[in-house]
Amino acid sequence: MPERTTTVVVGAGHAGLAASHYLRERAIDHVVLERGDVANSWRRERWDSLRLLTPNWQSRLPGLRYEGPDPDGYMRMGEVVELIDRFAAVTRAPVRTGTTVTSVRRTEDGYHVHTDRGEIRCRTVVLASGACNEPAVPRLREAVPVAIEQVTPFDYRGPDALADGGVLVVGASATGVQLAAEIRRSGRPVVLSTGEHVRLPRLYRGRDVLWWMDASGVWDQRYDEVPDLTRARRLASPQLAGTPDRSTLDLNVLTELGVELVGRAATVRDGELLFSGGLRNVVSLADLKMDRLLGTFDEWAASGDLDVKPTERFEPTRVPASTRLRLDLRGGEIRTIVWATGFRPDYGWLDVPVVDEKGHLVHDGGVVDSPGLYALGLPVLRRRRSTFIHGISDDAREVVDHLTRHLATRR
Ligand SMILES: Cc1cc2nc3c(=O)[nH]c(=O)nc-3n(C[C@H](O)[C@H](O)[C@H](O)COP(=O)(O)OP(=O)(O)OC[C@H]3O[C@@H](n4cnc5c(N)ncnc54)[C@H](O)[C@@H]3O)c2cc1C
Repeated sequence: MPERTTTVVVGAGHAGLAASHYLRERAIDHVVLERGDVANSWRRERWDSLRLLTPNWQSRLPGLRYEGPDPDGYMRMGEVVELIDRFAAVTRAPVRTGTTVTSVRRTEDGYHVHTDRGEIRCRTVVLASGACNEPAVPRLREAVPVAIEQVTPFDYRGPDALADGGVLVVGASATGVQLAAEIRRSGRPVVLSTGEHVRLPRLYRGRDVLWWMDASGVWDQRYDEVPDLTRARRLASPQLAGTPDRSTLDLNVLTELGVELVGRAATVRDGELLFSGGLRNVVSLADLKMDRLLGTFDEWAASGDLDVKPTERFEPTRVPASTRLRLDLRGGEIRTIVWATGFRPDYGWLDVPVVDEKGHLVHDGGVVDSPGLYALGLPVLRRRRSTFIHGISDDAREVVDHLTRHLATRR
C-alpha cells in the first residue's frame, strides 16, 4: 500500500524548505523529497569560486536572517549550503534525502508520487525542484569540431581544469562574465560572445545596486503587473559578481582585462563559428536600459530623505569599431568552449500535462493548471524577486495559503 500524506514537496532547496515552513505553520501534514542532500544544487552544480551576487543582508528566509559580521559581503558556496542547512534545521522540515521523484500522476483526489524508495498518495504537490536543473545549450554545439572541449557551468569547476590555450565563452550574463574574467586571469586568451544582456554597476550612489532594487520597490513588482511577463520570466541574470572589493564586472572591465568581445554566436558552418554583427546595438540597448533603471532609482530617492551619494552615470560600453564575425574552430586558436547560455528546469518526471513545448511549467503565480498542484522558486513566479533567496518568503506564504484554501474546499 502506498504511504499517505496531505502534501508532497519536491526538492529541498530554499524554496521547498520555505514551503515546508508555512505548511508546518498551518499544521498541514507533509514530506519534502530530495534526490540528493539539502541544498543539493549549491553543493553539486556550481563552480568553485562562485559567490552569491546578492549581499549577505539580503539572504532573508522565513524565520532566518543574516546575523554575521559582514552584511555587505557575498557568500561563498559553502556558506550558502550552511545557510540552507540551518534553515532546514530551524524549520524542522521533514526532509527525506536520497529520494528521487520519478513520476507524479494525477488521481481522483490528488496525486500519486512515485519515488525510487516507494510510492506516496497525497492531495497536493508543491514543485520546488528548481529552475536551473540543467544547462541550456544551443543546438549549434552539435556542429562544433570534436577536438574542441565543450564545458557547461555544471562541469566547470575552475580554470585549472581547462586545456591550455584559447577559450570561447558564449553568453555574457552573470555566469558568462564571471567565468570570462576568471579564465582570462588564469592567463588564457578569452573571446566572449555577447548577446542581449543586463548591465548593472555593483555600487550606485554608494550603495549596492541590489539595495536600490529592493528599497525602491522595483523587485517587489507583482507578476500580474509586469507588462511582458513571458519576457520577464526569460530575462537573463544581470552582469554582476559578488567580490570582496564590491567591484563592478561589466564589458568595459573585461575589455581592460584583455577579453575580446564578439557578437552573438549564430551558427557553425564548415568548422567556422559565425557571430552576429549586432554587438554595438546590443551594448547600446543594455546601456540605455541601465540608465533608465538608474533614473527610476533617482526619482524614488528624490521623493525621500535618503543618505546616498549624488547621482552618477557610467561610461558607455566600449566596443571595437568592427568585431570579428567568424572564428575558425579548426585552427587551434580555441581549445575550449564554455557555454554560459543559461539553465532550464527538468520536468521529465512530471506526468501531468502542464509543461509547454519549451519545457516551462504553465502556472499563474505558482498555481499550476491542475487542482492541488503548485510551484515555487521559478523566475518572476509572483514577484520580480521570486527567483532569489530573499524572494521566497512572500511567494511561499501566498502559495501555501492557496493550497490551504484548496484543501478546505475539497474537504
Ligand atoms: C549560478 C547561479 C547563481 C545564483 N546566484 C544567486 C544569488 O546570488 N542570489 C540568489 O538569491 N539566487 C541566486 N541564484 C538563484 C537561486 O537562488 C538558485 O537557483 C536556487 O538554487 C533556487 O532554489 P530552489 O529551492 O528554487 O531550487 P534548487 O536550489 O535548485 O532546489 C531544488 C531541489 O530539488 C531537487 N530535485 C530536483 N528534481 C528532483 C526530483 N525529481 N526528485 C527529488 N528532488 C529533486 C534538487 O536536487 C534540488 O536540491 C543563482 C542560481 C544559479 C544557477
